[in-house]
Amino acid sequence: MIDVNGTHELQFVIVMDGQASDDQVEDVLARLIHAGAYGRVAPGRDSTVIGAIGGRALRGTISLDGIAGIEKVLPVSKPYKLVSLETTPEPSVIQVRGRRVGGDHFALIAGPCAVESREQTLATARAVGAAGASMLRGGAFKPRTSPYSFRGLGPEALAILEEAREETGLPIVTELLDPRHMEAVSETADVIQIGARNMQNFLLLSEAGRGDKPVLLKRGASASIEELLMAAEYILKEGNPRVILCERGIRTFESSTRFTLDVGAVPVLKEQTHLPVIVDPSHAAGRRELVPALARAAVAAGADGIIVEVHPRPEEALCDAPQLLRASRFAAFADEICGLASLMGKVVAGQAGSMPSTVRSSTGSENEHDP
Ligand code: PEP
Ligand code: MN
Repeated sequence: MIDVNGTHELQFVIVMDGQASDDQVEDVLARLIHAGAYGRVAPGRDSTVIGAIGGRALRGTISLDGIAGIEKVLPVSKPYKLVSLETTPEPSVIQVRGRRVGGDHFALIAGPCAVESREQTLATARAVGAAGASMLRGGAFKPRTSPYSFRGLGPEALAILEEAREETGLPIVTELLDPRHMEAVSETADVIQIGARNMQNFLLLSEAGRGDKPVLLKRGASASIEELLMAAEYILKEGNPRVILCERGIRTFESSTRFTLDVGAVPVLKEQTHLPVIVDPSHAAGRRELVPALARAAVAAGADGIIVEVHPRPEEALCDAPQLLRASRFAAFADEICGLASLMGKVVAGQAGSMPSTVRSSTGSENEHDP
């Protein structure tokens, strides 16, 4: 059943004590159901947290005082709930085919704007894979401003991406444009991208929330940070906790860059949410010369990763040609970014011999989300 009304929302959070048994968690869940609500369980390393989802009257109709295993019940003050640090105070770490993103883990996602051909995609995949990228990006269905522009190879591109994964081992990030493509895209994608233009396509968000693939959610060009968080909330509310947020530039009066990269969004999001935050310097810059500087700024601001566009012959590209990094120069770019990420205390997923000596080990206070 598709719930388009959203009358149930997170009302409060129940933190179980560290020793609470599974039976005690089950007992709390049963009490919520008895009260006409339900609980969403987030197992943490130290304690289990239950989000109580129900109508506004829930707090008044359920008594949780003195129930065994409950440490505390916390009100939720923000309009977004499940994505909030109030609900889950530890950073979420999302695992994609063994590559982690979030917490101490940095992801370098690279690949063409669009899958244009088998040769172009495989050449790019080989180059970025050899340079230590964590995942391969590439659009099969492209949102284009003009209906006369190249709009992607569709299913043929999905097959090419699968071949690239088979050869390089790189997990695939590709965009979902339409809920009707959900089945086909999820069969290929390891991470489903929801693009800037669709950040507030609420039916698409819910569809991705009902799926089992991590979602890379890009900020709309005119969306506030709170709107981005509310969009992510749609996905978590449907039961999919594996969301990666992406700052990709916003529209301002400035025209010397394609969009204005809002670097400040990175630390602001980190104050508000446990979800990983990555940055797309390519779409913000609009020109390849600017991409390295914006990527460095993103890493220095504390981003958990970057997603960049790369092509073997940018001058021949069918989409976003001016901003594509040349594949033959990607290794130098990747070295610089990964070195900086290490200085920021991050481990780069996918980098050969992936634990530089400057990197601190995992703090142990993270939520692991395995596939
Ligand atoms: C993309 O990453 O392919 C893309 C279209 O980006 P955005 O949605 O940020 O414009
Ligand atoms: Mn692009």
